[in-house]
Amino acid sequence: LSSDEYVAKTFERIRRLEGRINAFITVRDEQRVLDEVKMSVKKGGRLAGVLIAVKDNISTRDVRTTCASKMLENYVPPYDATVISKLKMEGAVILGKTNMDEFAMGSTTETSYFGPTRNPWDLSRTPGGSSGGSGSSLAAGYVDLALGSDTGGSIRTPASFTSTFGLKPSYGTVSRYGLVAYANSLEQIGPMAKNSRDLALLFSVIAGNDQRDATTIDYTPPSSVSPISIKGIKVGVLQDIMNASDPGVAGKVRDFLDRMSSEGAIIEETSLGMTDYVLPTYYIIAMSEASSNLARYDGVRYGHSSNMEGNWKEVYSKTRGEGFGKEVKRRILLGSFILSAGYYEQFYIRALKVRRLIRDSLEKLFAKYDVIISPTAPVLPPKIGEVIDDPVKMYAMDVATVTANLAAIPSLSIPAGFYNGLPVGLQLMGRYLSDTFLMGISLYME
Ligand code: GLN
Repeated sequence: LSSDEYVAKTFERIRRLEGRINAFITVRDEQRVLDEVKMSVKKGGRLAGVLIAVKDNISTRDVRTTCASKMLENYVPPYDATVISKLKMEGAVILGKTNMDEFAMGSTTETSYFGPTRNPWDLSRTPGGSSGGSGSSLAAGYVDLALGSDTGGSIRTPASFTSTFGLKPSYGTVSRYGLVAYANSLEQIGPMAKNSRDLALLFSVIAGNDQRDATTIDYTPPSSVSPISIKGIKVGVLQDIMNASDPGVAGKVRDFLDRMSSEGAIIEETSLGMTDYVLPTYYIIAMSEASSNLARYDGVRYGHSSNMEGNWKEVYSKTRGEGFGKEVKRRILLGSFILSAGYYEQFYIRALKVRRLIRDSLEKLFAKYDVIISPTAPVLPPKIGEVIDDPVKMYAMDVATVTANLAAIPSLSIPAGFYNGLPVGLQLMGRYLSDTFLMGISLYME
């Protein structure tokens, strides 16, 4: 395929499907994209001339970065996130910025100011979230590579609902410089792709120590992945999550485990023992960090402004009242409440302690097992509108994913097949820095 054909085909597909799918908030100009593809094919690199879709909470120089919020509707960053600089160095070309839940708060890509993204496998359903635009851009065949971010499942849930591959990397392996902050202690930028090989390649390009993010560690992943034979590896299956899952979902995961077992893996039922606590712990910490991070949108420095005269309090309230959507406001209110004097110890400090207990109980599991498996999401992709007005129902979709963020460990979602025509995803969790090991297993099973 020549550069001209590749770019023309891609844009043709976008023109044909995007009206229904809405995977992108911004698609870049076709001529500019073509020029860059040609130039980077000449220059070379591990991703020379490859188009990539980037979640719209990752800073891209001269390309609007909205976080799917009215607050940043017209914000054009003057700088690239570290992951974007690294992509460009290897020759990747940004096709566009993908739709997401506003400020990455949600699990279905329905809280976006720019309207929901639809699931290419079934247009009446959500692609999951919050990186739903990235998942749909893969499933719609626009791109082979995409970037998402994962604070509590936002890469893995859309991967699961769109039958693609998504990695929430070990905390500290990928720079967050240029990622619009939601909950710093939980989130990582990560790769999404249509197979394990591409996933590992993209991970190796974006990972690495960064002076601009003090939480990054000195770790360089291998530049490619080889299949890892699963003969003799010990797999723990989270039985409480299996039991709480839609029978169609659990059935597909069981089929996959049977395949692993016939390849010689040792499969055992187990449990975290703390499953009832993971969601409250996650949401208390995530909302607290969110309320503090989002204080910066004051209508003065950048972003939406109410343009009114008045004292600071009035302008601040009006700007934020107009600029933020309902889910974001809910979290700012709850987060501020949790952090307020008198409640801080009762909620925030206690959540940090439980977080430690969750880490400890995972450590015990990893003394026994090499991999821990469960469904990625306990449900099939919901219909658009089905969970959006019921936050507790929406939060409950994250029961399997938030654990890895609380514990900083890697977690991978891979396709486990289809049930009634709808994608089912399977989640693998591993020890800290076992990212490549997880992808090696998934490559073997492909
Ligand atoms: N659904 C979770 C939340 O709303 C996770 C979102 C994410 O990973 N960014 O917090």
